[in-house]
Amino acid sequence: GHGIAVFTSGGDSQGMNAAVRAVVRMGIYLGCKVYFIKEGYQGMVDGGENIVEANWASVSSIIHRGGTVIGSARCKDFRERPGRLKAAENLIKRGITNLVVIGGDGSLTGANLFRVEWSSLLDELLSTGRISTEERQKYKSLHIAGMVGSIDNDFCGTDMTIGTDSALHRIIEAIDAIVSTAYSHQRTFIMEVMGRHCGYLAVVAALASEADYVFIPEDPVNVHWKENLCKKLLQERSAGQRLNIIIVAEGAIDREGNPITAEMVKKVVVDELKQDTRITVLGHVQRGGNPSAFDRVLGCRMGAEAVMALMEATDDTEPCVVSLDGNQAVRLPLMECVNRTQAVAKAMAERKFELAVDLRGRS
Ligand code: ATP
Repeated sequence: GHGIAVFTSGGDSQGMNAAVRAVVRMGIYLGCKVYFIKEGYQGMVDGGENIVEANWASVSSIIHRGGTVIGSARCKDFRERPGRLKAAENLIKRGITNLVVIGGDGSLTGANLFRVEWSSLLDELLSTGRISTEERQKYKSLHIAGMVGSIDNDFCGTDMTIGTDSALHRIIEAIDAIVSTAYSHQRTFIMEVMGRHCGYLAVVAALASEADYVFIPEDPVNVHWKENLCKKLLQERSAGQRLNIIIVAEGAIDREGNPITAEMVKKVVVDELKQDTRITVLGHVQRGGNPSAFDRVLGCRMGAEAVMALMEATDDTEPCVVSLDGNQAVRLPLMECVNRTQAVAKAMAERKFELAVDLRGRS
């Protein structure tokens, strides 16, 4: 059969390595040649040493590592047709017509465009003598299966994206560490977590850490937020609590769309309540560290399903994204999910929050 290539693109997340590993091993198990493409689309465009055949052992001892061992990148060249033409040539020369892309909605959009253009790219390669007539015929269809690696859980169609659970572990560890010192000194802690359009990490972290208040992009606060916050904090203190925890998502805003920042929240608590207040910005720590058991298993299951999807694809099978739906790995139409995800981002930007939450659905 034709070769399968796997690559990671866009922001990294914990569990991507488990997915890469599963693709390689499932592919080899089914008798395919499997390739790594290093550095995302840039490696596909540049070819050479960036596209290497994988073997069973080349994915040993990676499942426990965060990030992506095959490298990820953002690539300008792939956004333009000449870049995609070079990428197509590099794949054909190695007999690759199956792609597994692990990335965000941008990366999946790029893969879809590549498939839409595939025929015309091959025509151009043929007419300029870069591939033969036999190659044009033999490699006439490109198959694509995607998986979403993102700590934000911001993709429509899947209950969980690869990396979200590990990021939550990081956040909870950090909050637990802070709680003991906050308790000792009766402090208030404000924790800023990632999530520019999606408050999932903030909300789940708040629930799991018994936080007193949470600010998220989907639920902008009204003009009374300062009073409401102070009232709640005082209420907890007078009930005997020795500390307060406030979680602020990066993208938190008020009803007018103005950002609510950790600094602003701190100023309110200090000015109004005179509480000893500290801010912790977790930043890239959330992306770091070892993947959780959940993300390892999620990556494994999705990777295996992606290969199955490619093996069952016929010439006119549309690209799919492998998703988690009620603890089942399922295949959904890739562009439908991408379009819905982008519609959510648009609704958020236009401050149509109910529409955004509606569109996003269960996840
Ligand atoms: P993250 O959510 O972490 O940002 P992402 O996959 O959405 O991940 P992008 O930077 O949007 O990240 O996309 C990654 C790469 O995918 C781009 O650098 C580019 O090479 C390719 N890509 C994205 N959108 C397109 C597009 N419309 N056409 C062609 N290629 C694209």
